[in-house]
Amino acid sequence: MLFPTTIAGSLPKPPWLAETERLWPQWRQSGDALAEAMRDATRVALFEEEHAGIDVVTDGEQSRQHFVHGFVAGVEGIDFSKKVRRGIRGDRYEADCPSVVSPISRPTSVHAGEVRFARSVTDRTLKITIPGPMTIVDTLFDGHYGSRRDLAFAFADIIHDEILDLCALGVDVVQLDEPAFNVFFEEVNEWGIDALNACIRDVPCKTAVHVCYGYGIQANLDWKHSLGEKWDQYDIVLPMLARSNVDQVAIELAGSRVPPHVLAHLKTKSVAVGCIDVASDEIERPEDVIRTIETALEYLPPEAISPTTNCGMAPMSREVAYAKLRALGDGARAMRTRYTAATARR
Ligand code: ZN
Repeated sequence: MLFPTTIAGSLPKPPWLAETERLWPQWRQSGDALAEAMRDATRVALFEEEHAGIDVVTDGEQSRQHFVHGFVAGVEGIDFSKKVRRGIRGDRYEADCPSVVSPISRPTSVHAGEVRFARSVTDRTLKITIPGPMTIVDTLFDGHYGSRRDLAFAFADIIHDEILDLCALGVDVVQLDEPAFNVFFEEVNEWGIDALNACIRDVPCKTAVHVCYGYGIQANLDWKHSLGEKWDQYDIVLPMLARSNVDQVAIELAGSRVPPHVLAHLKTKSVAVGCIDVASDEIERPEDVIRTIETALEYLPPEAISPTTNCGMAPMSREVAYAKLRALGDGARAMRTRYTAATARR
């Protein structure tokens, strides 16, 4: 199928599950009631995605407080009672980061429960997101390893085993989220790509990596304004990702100052092209999505393009997020029809 749609991963949480429009929301339930609320929220997320015409769906990350800490919570060697406030993503903003206090290990699969449930309620191609090693390291306080590289490779081993477990449960695509790749170029070159490859070596599912300019939160909006008229970060990082073993690269495009020519760096990959701006509550029209796909077509063959959201939608309102998903699905469907008709005429 041409132009299969997907999303970056997260969707807003409903008010009966957690605080709304927050990046680190507090849960509104506990114990069994929380587990049931998470499952119900996952049902709604999958329903809305399917209803909007999203082809490669996710669980909307409804069972994680935050995309990094939700994974790290299942890893031993990290103390959540010892949070250290530190600047992350190159001091773009501060976060309370749990401490690494001893060698890390994964006693059991972190996301198996959510994946088993999501798999049981949708027949669509199922994608699960896991934070990448560099981004995890950048969202923790390291009180044990003393080297970002060493800690990242320890996480790569854990992520690799997690991917194998999730594939066995029927996951079709695993996406590693590496927003930190857009910040620490030297480290990406020195060990980031190797750590990414270590996560996905010989896994049986499709693999993707998402590198973006972050959620639509104020700190990111301020940072984006400081980047000038043309954002050249992808010109540095995408050639490195092109050399990695990952199948698909997911990037931000719509509503951004990313120069579209950077897409040409990814000629050897499938590319999830951001057609929905998560930094604005203005709802795209299907025509806007079509225009972004047409821009991507100037640099990539149609078979390579998968329309997606620029980033996670966790901090948005549900109403806005779901309306944006419907525009994404409608725009991609229109493009598919156009291309199918063109092929039939030939
Ligand atoms: Zn993102």
